[in-house]
Amino acid sequence: MRLIWILGDQLIPDHPLLKTADRHTAVGMIESSPRGSHLRYHQQKLTLLYAAMRHHAAALKKSGQRVLYRRLTDGARSDGYGEVLKRWIQENKITEIHLLDPNEYDTAQSLPALSKKLGVPIHCHRSPQFLVPRDDFAAWAKGKKHLLMEAHYRRLRTEKNILMTPKGQPEGGDWNLDDQNRRTYREFAKERPKIPPLPPLEKDSVVQEVAAEVAKLFPDHPGKAAGLWVPATREGALAWLKHFIRTRLGQFGPWEDTMVEGEAVLFHSVISPFLNLGLITPQECLQAAEKAYREGKAPLNSVEGFIRQVLGWREFIHGLYWLKMPEYKKVNFLGAERPLPRWAYDGKTDMRCVSQAVTGAVDRAYNHHIQRLMVLGNYFLLGGYEPLAVLRWYTEMYFDAYDWVMVPNVLGMILFADGGWFATKPYAAGAAYQEKMGNHCASCRFDPKQKEGPEACPFHSLYWNFYGQHATKFRSNPRIGMMVAMWEKKSAADKTRIRAEAEKFLKAQA
Ligand SMILES: Cc1cc2nc3c(=O)[nH]c(=O)nc-3n(C[C@H](O)[C@H](O)[C@H](O)COP(=O)(O)OP(=O)(O)OC[C@H]3O[C@@H](n4cnc5c(N)ncnc54)[C@H](O)[C@@H]3O)c2cc1C
Ligand code: SF4
Repeated sequence: MRLIWILGDQLIPDHPLLKTADRHTAVGMIESSPRGSHLRYHQQKLTLLYAAMRHHAAALKKSGQRVLYRRLTDGARSDGYGEVLKRWIQENKITEIHLLDPNEYDTAQSLPALSKKLGVPIHCHRSPQFLVPRDDFAAWAKGKKHLLMEAHYRRLRTEKNILMTPKGQPEGGDWNLDDQNRRTYREFAKERPKIPPLPPLEKDSVVQEVAAEVAKLFPDHPGKAAGLWVPATREGALAWLKHFIRTRLGQFGPWEDTMVEGEAVLFHSVISPFLNLGLITPQECLQAAEKAYREGKAPLNSVEGFIRQVLGWREFIHGLYWLKMPEYKKVNFLGAERPLPRWAYDGKTDMRCVSQAVTGAVDRAYNHHIQRLMVLGNYFLLGGYEPLAVLRWYTEMYFDAYDWVMVPNVLGMILFADGGWFATKPYAAGAAYQEKMGNHCASCRFDPKQKEGPEACPFHSLYWNFYGQHATKFRSNPRIGMMVAMWEKKSAADKTRIRAEAEKFLKAQA
């Protein structure tokens, strides 16, 4: 008997190994309690994962596959993949195991030892889950000193003929339409674009069953399992995508960087949890967006902005992870070593922008990109928080978090811990950015306009203190060398005061 092992984040339609399944083949799926407890993953993440797996297994059974399925509640709680596979091998006379290349480095690395322990060969096969295979990305990256997302994105647009004219030019003449996007909160308040409601969620007894189990088995994990607010089936995910394309894509571009209190999603798609589990494919998202543009249902700036995220950023981040692991997890270019602030899991801080992002993550296992990058990421960067502790926090809190996507985003994009493998500068920002792009400052106990004193927004001192601390590293950076020069022009007394204020604030967060 041959076993096709489907990992929980590989629930892809048209699984290539299933095409070869015959009566000597079984499909295996395992809900592993030790894996689910590896970190304190958000309860909604675990609920979505296991519910999606159970739905997927049911669909496979319906299509005639012989499915071996291990639930969280079956057998001993301590049983991991190895114990379950061992039992299946004995009971079903399994002689070989096949699976798609795992998306996580550690899982891939563990397979030779697992095979040895089980006494059967484990064969990995190329996965179609991403548009760019790992070796293709590595070939593109070879010899390049600096890897730029923009260059990779343009190559993919051309090679895959996405949003291109028949003459091979970018649709509309420009590759990048950011100047029409990224509009400010002030513009948002003036125009008041209508934010469409999310699609209604159908009652799902599988989700309810899993949520009850997760709440019981992982009680100390953040969030409430029963609050899961996205569907857990391929059909539900496709309907969600369709709804986004019809109701929100048109406004995605202009407001993609805006933050509005009480509006967790705005015009974002919330397709990352589905894409990362394999429930929908990047091709489906790209085709649907391009079609909306070709049919005149969405403007080019929004469609290009969305395609840039899915084709550009997502594929680039994935390629980078596989290019740079395992070194990626050892980086700490800025020597950051502060442990997480005490409010990391409840958001009880006076910084309104930060507390709204943390409580949003606890409630929904989701923040949109700017809250992740420019609010929380900015805080962790400026405050000098320890890279692996920050990585752990992000991995625990979001329902779309998987190692391949978190490692470059957290260690590279927000913390600059890799020293700039792909970012040309750290995304450091002061209070002015938060005030321009969001409306949190209006109800904050701090004042973004005050630069010093107990009422001053902490981002002021944190921002300048950051440049002071890392002046040698950034002095010759063409994009931010100017900020270092500005820091250096400050008087010794000003510098001492700023440093003391930043340090006092950070100490109080411990
Ligand atoms: C610190 C940090 C942590 C992040 N963690 C995750 C994560 O765990 N999982 C995850 O899927 N994305 C992550 N991202 C990327 C991005 O923030 C999320 O994909 C996005 O917010 C998900 O919401 P959405 O589907 O509404 O996205 P939209 O804004 O609607 O964007 C569409 C899609 O583009 C893709 N995308 C956009 N930016 C990125 C990016 N930087 N990396 C990879 N894909 C991208 C995602 O698939 C996303 O669903 C992270 C970004 C940062 C800065
Ligand atoms: S004043 Fe500062 S801490 Fe408060 S919301 Fe604005 S940026 Fe955030």
